[in-house]
Amino acid sequence: MGPGPSDVSPRVLKALGQPTIGHLDPAFVGLMDEIKDLLQYVFMTENRLTIPVSAPGSAGMETCFMNMVDPNDHVLVCINGVFGGRMTEVAKRAGAKLTTLEFDWGTEVDPAKVEEALAADDSISMLAFVHAETSTGVRSDAKTLCEIARKHDCLTIVDAVTSLAGIELRVDDWGIDAIYSGTQKCLSCVPGISPVSFSEKAVAKIQSREHTNDSWFLDLKLVMAYWEQSEAQPKRAYHHTAPVNSLYALHESLLMVKEEGLENAWARHAKHHNALVAGLSVLGIELIVAEEYRLPELNTVKIPEGVDDAAVRTALLSQFDLEIGAGLGKFAGNAWRIGLMGSACKRENVELCISALASVLNEQGYDCDGDAAMAAVANSYA
Ligand SMILES: *Cc1c(COP(=O)(O)O)cnc(C)c1O
Repeated sequence: MGPGPSDVSPRVLKALGQPTIGHLDPAFVGLMDEIKDLLQYVFMTENRLTIPVSAPGSAGMETCFMNMVDPNDHVLVCINGVFGGRMTEVAKRAGAKLTTLEFDWGTEVDPAKVEEALAADDSISMLAFVHAETSTGVRSDAKTLCEIARKHDCLTIVDAVTSLAGIELRVDDWGIDAIYSGTQKCLSCVPGISPVSFSEKAVAKIQSREHTNDSWFLDLKLVMAYWEQSEAQPKRAYHHTAPVNSLYALHESLLMVKEEGLENAWARHAKHHNALVAGLSVLGIELIVAEEYRLPELNTVKIPEGVDDAAVRTALLSQFDLEIGAGLGKFAGNAWRIGLMGSACKRENVELCISALASVLNEQGYDCDGDAAMAAVANSYA
């Protein structure tokens, strides 16, 4: 129950262990097409350029920036946690002219501030932000932010690593231009793959670029020769050897989301989050983020006064086989991050977390009522 990688279901692990076949084998090519269809389903998009990048979420971030940003394109990056900060590092390396907007840790990207910044400077042509900030547990209003960007003729780059399949995310309806995610958060797949998707406007921008991409591996113009088949390009060509077994696993995890239904997956995350919060509040553990902006899949809580951060996490792990996340960046030492991602988001885990926390906290001299907290959890489910 940390911030990822989340638990991988036995079904996905079994798919991972299937015999490795060639990355141009006809059977594998069929699987690639199915993966693209399933990715379109989870992203809620018709975007043709929707593929898994053969590397983790950070490579998806870099794919978006390296392909979308021409040197000196003016990009506005919003920072309300670690991953917004990482975006600025990547945007700089892509040669962007950079403007940043910072928001307090634990708060959302404020659309009014973004509107103000875009209105103040016509030269900004791209807006980048994190939909679900895993370092703070905050959801920003991606729909509104994209609306504002469109009004100011800006393309959007959105980090959906922790939001995909955990909370509402609608790529086409919200008009997102470039989006990346990861496999090891709410998709509950093995780490190391990054689904990405690009709108027609984004593809037009990529295709009209004269600047040769400074990254060879992530250059979509080259990668597409492997992932796409068309009249102009009847045969797929080798670019790099795809991580065949990891893609089996991704295929299986996407199928599981489709079987459950995307909206049902969102509702499941919300339901178990509510039960967790009910239990935590009886234990006297406060959430950091205002209710409206909380991520159900990543709960940042204040470490109670006088409680030893590391000792509690070590005891949870050694006595209960339970991992929760430490605070990151500015939250290091004063927050825990309790994940409820993908297949780890279930009642048994909520109950384990509340009862284990009660036991360990009492052991550490922090007085709390575990039975009452468990009753609150049960009540939430009832
Ligand atoms: C985990 C995460 C990333 C990075 O993904 P990696 O797979 O670790 O490279 C990027 N952005 C957010 C919001 C994340 O939670």
